[in-house]
Amino acid sequence: MNVQYSSSRGGKEKVSASWAIIKGLAEDGGLFVPDHFPKLEKTLEECSALDYKELAYEVMKLFLSDFTEEELKNCINKAYDAKFDTEEIAPLAEVDGTYYLELFHGATIAFKDMALSILPHLMTTAAKKNNVNQEIVILTATSGDTGKAALAGFAGVEGTRIVVFYPKNGVSAIQEKQMVTQKGDNVKVIGITGNFDDAQTGVKNIFGDKALAEELAEAGFQFSSANSINIGRLVPQVVYYVYAYAKLVKEGRIKAGDTINVTVPTGNFGNILAGYYAKQIGVPIGKLICASNENKVLFDFFATGCYDRNREFILTSSPSMDILISSNLERLIYLIAGSDADKNRGFMQSLLSEGKYTITEDMKSRLDDFIGGYAGEAEVAKTIRDVYERTGYVIDTHTAVATTVYEKYKKDSGDDTPMVIVSTASPFKFTRSVMEAVEGAIDDKTDFELIDKLSKIANVKVPNAIEEIRNAEIMHDTVCDKEDMKAQVKKFLNL
Ligand SMILES: *Cc1c(COP(=O)(O)O)cnc(C)c1O
Repeated sequence: MNVQYSSSRGGKEKVSASWAIIKGLAEDGGLFVPDHFPKLEKTLEECSALDYKELAYEVMKLFLSDFTEEELKNCINKAYDAKFDTEEIAPLAEVDGTYYLELFHGATIAFKDMALSILPHLMTTAAKKNNVNQEIVILTATSGDTGKAALAGFAGVEGTRIVVFYPKNGVSAIQEKQMVTQKGDNVKVIGITGNFDDAQTGVKNIFGDKALAEELAEAGFQFSSANSINIGRLVPQVVYYVYAYAKLVKEGRIKAGDTINVTVPTGNFGNILAGYYAKQIGVPIGKLICASNENKVLFDFFATGCYDRNREFILTSSPSMDILISSNLERLIYLIAGSDADKNRGFMQSLLSEGKYTITEDMKSRLDDFIGGYAGEAEVAKTIRDVYERTGYVIDTHTAVATTVYEKYKKDSGDDTPMVIVSTASPFKFTRSVMEAVEGAIDDKTDFELIDKLSKIANVKVPNAIEEIRNAEIMHDTVCDKEDMKAQVKKFLNL
């Protein structure tokens, strides 16, 4: 039976996977959810003989059921190629009896590459399938990481253009340099004099501008979004959980059928949800440990059943997890509500109007697969230092949140099921925090001095993604006021 998608907030109407990718969000503001969970067609044993791309096909074909074999394989081949610095795509490192699934070997050395390197190809293929002939214009506001990953994914992809807005004084020096050195005729990077919220609001306003949409359509363009609620970003993430399991079987560390647990550093709840989807299609995952930083909305939710965003927003050393509204959680709420869209809509309305909602006891009882935990800033730094001193392995701040939470869980529960910790960023992406944790005082050092030092102590080559920007030419120097964002987009499109 082919998987189709409906809105998590209502309507019986179902759409194909390709249409859900083009639309991104359902008309009623809900997220597209699969109408059932398919099952892996190959056994876990058989999966263990496949390489990353072969396995990606096995998994993605289940969810993207209206893509032909040729279309899907084409997308996979274009995404998981030499942009990754290892043919394994997602290596699994054994460290101290725990397994780190390294999702940072792509173009921007963070895990968003796993999905954003394939999304542009899924989108252009989906457009063709549905006779959408307009050029797709991606608009993104970024607080740092997503912007570069989206730029790298869409650069040079025929039939697409991308405009990224970032807060001029609100991203790290390395993040800014990564973005403003992006090459490609179809890309534009613009700094705005404002903060991330200003950039985000500006983009939302442009998306909501009906007159502009008409003007665009006449000129042969259509806006789209690459944000993490698109199923075209979720589905590619299911793959690496299957891959991690298959790899453990292949290496003889577990037998096919044995249970593993996973710990996921979480912000928007996309990555860990993909792990939950992997479990639904037949991967023997026991517990999914949801690791938060000091913005611990999810920890509180799993503890109490109340999701409450009314709290102070804390800036931490794991900025990609500094989030108070985890958008993808809605897909889990929908499921534990018994796939009841009306019920889910009620919770989401309450989140919008009051900033919080409380699930029922019955729903709470369906959350047994999840365990919430969180780590404070001092613990994160200590974990980075401890893991390094004990093993020589250097982890980034986001991964260190996961390691801290896992170690606490292990101590409290005594559970010694094999653990896969999802490693979401290279330590080279957050060098300053990492080196501060390992070495202490670093204030007198430049970013690149720290990068070279990190390379030495970790005994890891500086990744190409960093090497490239050391002396790269600046391609984008536009800075505008937030009021001028629309004008800048029009200018880029020659309207
Ligand atoms: C985005 C991001 C996360 C959080 O992932 P979600 O899918 O939003 O939960 C964690 N770590 C890094 C490095 C990220 O970029």
